[in-house]
Amino acid sequence: MFTYAYGFPRLGKLKEYKKYTEQFWKGMISEKHLVSGMEEIETDRISLYKTFIDSFPLGEFTYYDNILDTAFIFGVYKFSGLRDYYEYARGKHALKLKKYFSTNYHYLVPHLNKRTNLKLSWSKPLSYFNTFFSFKDNPVFCIGPYTFLKLSNLETGFEESLDKLCHEYKILFDKLYTKGIGYLHLEDPAFVLDTTEREIRMVKKYYLKMLSTKMKVNLFTYYEGVPYLNKIYDLPLSGIGLDFVSTDENMRTIRKYGFPKDKTLFCGIINGKNPKRANIISKVKTINEITGSAHISYNKIALSNSCPLFHLPVTLENEHRMRRDIRNKLSFAKEKLYELQLIRKVFEKNTKEARKWSQGAETEEISTASKKFDTLSLDKKEFTKRKMLHDKLFGLPLFPTTTIGSFPQDAQLRKIRLDFKKRRISSKDYDKYIRNKIKDLIDTQEKHGLDVLVHGEFERTDMVEFFAQKLDGFITTDNGWVISYGTRVYRPPIIHAPIKRNKPITIKEITFAQKIAHKPVKGIFTGPVTIIAWSYNLRKEPVYKVAFELSRALNKEAMELVKNNINFIQIDEPAIKEYAPLRGRKRNLYFSWAVRSFNLTAKLPKKVQIHTHMCYSEFSDIIKWILKMNFDVITIEAAREEANIINSFRNIKMTKQIGPGVWDIHSKYPANRKTMENVISTAIKVFGKDKVWINPDCGLKTRGWPEVNISLSRMVKVAKDYRKRYA
Ligand code: GLN
Ligand code: ZN
Repeated sequence: MFTYAYGFPRLGKLKEYKKYTEQFWKGMISEKHLVSGMEEIETDRISLYKTFIDSFPLGEFTYYDNILDTAFIFGVYKFSGLRDYYEYARGKHALKLKKYFSTNYHYLVPHLNKRTNLKLSWSKPLSYFNTFFSFKDNPVFCIGPYTFLKLSNLETGFEESLDKLCHEYKILFDKLYTKGIGYLHLEDPAFVLDTTEREIRMVKKYYLKMLSTKMKVNLFTYYEGVPYLNKIYDLPLSGIGLDFVSTDENMRTIRKYGFPKDKTLFCGIINGKNPKRANIISKVKTINEITGSAHISYNKIALSNSCPLFHLPVTLENEHRMRRDIRNKLSFAKEKLYELQLIRKVFEKNTKEARKWSQGAETEEISTASKKFDTLSLDKKEFTKRKMLHDKLFGLPLFPTTTIGSFPQDAQLRKIRLDFKKRRISSKDYDKYIRNKIKDLIDTQEKHGLDVLVHGEFERTDMVEFFAQKLDGFITTDNGWVISYGTRVYRPPIIHAPIKRNKPITIKEITFAQKIAHKPVKGIFTGPVTIIAWSYNLRKEPVYKVAFELSRALNKEAMELVKNNINFIQIDEPAIKEYAPLRGRKRNLYFSWAVRSFNLTAKLPKKVQIHTHMCYSEFSDIIKWILKMNFDVITIEAAREEANIINSFRNIKMTKQIGPGVWDIHSKYPANRKTMENVISTAIKVFGKDKVWINPDCGLKTRGWPEVNISLSRMVKVAKDYRKRYA
């Protein structure tokens, strides 16, 4: 029995990864300096593995993203140095970002077109080998070809590309083997997705070819069980990595079909994406259950994490002010390595340390609930009636204009917020500063002639953390940073106790804005599903119970806003789609509780117009659930994809209103007239003229004032032109 870990965060204990990279981008340090900084980080990362763990892969490190690297390795793009590399990440060739399976990590989506020639072009693993690592017994990290293609955008046939790619992988494996490398760590989470028998057979056919190498290959799957695990037992693999934390599916398969005697089982039993401290004794029991049920001998067992550890902050050691009782329930990435070591110690009959560590920890249970929830959806006709009421009450023009909530946040604002947090300025001065920002913004919006205003969200650091800091039941960390993509980091809050709203959250700022405004102001807050999706949940109860609690707390907030004369409430739910389970059979349960949570939050008097915002546009597979949500207006992204989005809605009779974004706020360019007209005209055709709003794709937090002013004035002008045309 040995311990094996992978995916340890590359961020560095003090976010050095972010620091070096961004300094390089700004031209503050040379490429040589960047490379030596990164090597330092990597050396530290590896020495942590070495401190706690018997074995781990080498070559996991990336300058931006491993899917992008794989595209370079196999010639989708030509690798010609670091400067050029970053052009694909964030420069002139910038690829699209997409969520990595159902996590909050975004990868870059490679695009394979008809001319793409898949060919081993850049030996990234070897370049590491040649510099300063000694691979000897350590496996070399690679993303698997099946996963790579599943995550790419293909203009080519899947099978044809897989055939070609597997051929090139084999060349790579053989090459590594001749250099004395014996093992490969092949990460292939696509094996957990829903698949057909035909697809399994197809994938196996090409994997067989790829695996006709002397290299010993370990295949790692995670985030879910492998639906046809026993069918890949006959692949000539040296080991298989399985997730025993997120589901009991793998365990059930092993009970039923056993596990091949010739393979090592990498038991993913330490949770790689939730910082719950493991109860070591109960983990040992689980391992005994797994090994016992399939008569697996201990020397074919590797104790491992359930998925890559980069979903967690680096270490608890960075938290100096955290409550002790909560700290004792936690373990971040470094502590997870320690947990693996502890499990092994128990097998060596040393249980004292494990018992001590496990004191705060609860046994992790796998939820097997399958009951669906009543979504509490209102009847369709209700929205038509509500619209009539709202038309009478608010008298908004045709094609009303609005924004999504946030407005540019500059360095000064961030400094004032930090000063306030560190108590360097009084709350009186802080409030005054924020009120002035709000006042200026209300003036600006009224000058531009927008119809429904916002207060600007200047008081919010992050759309989830801000709420977590004001609700009971959450704690936030000082340094619990996790990479969201590239060098973008966030600190997920931690849910540890029942969620309650004991004080107002948004009331002060929003009611102030409404008092000074001549037009209606939207009360904007983050929805329950998104808050949960972007937090860590330590609670024992099933996640939907926590979501319902949170919904009630948020509803209280909304009710108080309404009492204070706020008649427009916007509940942002950008995470509702990505948080859906990977496997189809689990989705109905998920969406039923997610929609119910939204509807509990949105349970407000009829006179209130409810808005929701989602940051994407691809709804085809979830549209039936979206329509069960009790909102009057939905704003979505559309400008980026030139109105393609509206396709998801084409065959649906919408009784609700929609604001497809007319301005791509992810680019640095202001809204352009042609895109706006394209989006609006398409929307009018699909939804009818009385159902269309005009707004940007998303919040404007990351934009600069010059392009914001130009775009808002263009938006309002276009709206006026359309009103004339359709009056
Ligand atoms: N209201 C938020 C904002 O405008 C929404 C952000 C988001 O959708 N991610 O910033
Ligand atoms: Zn958005």
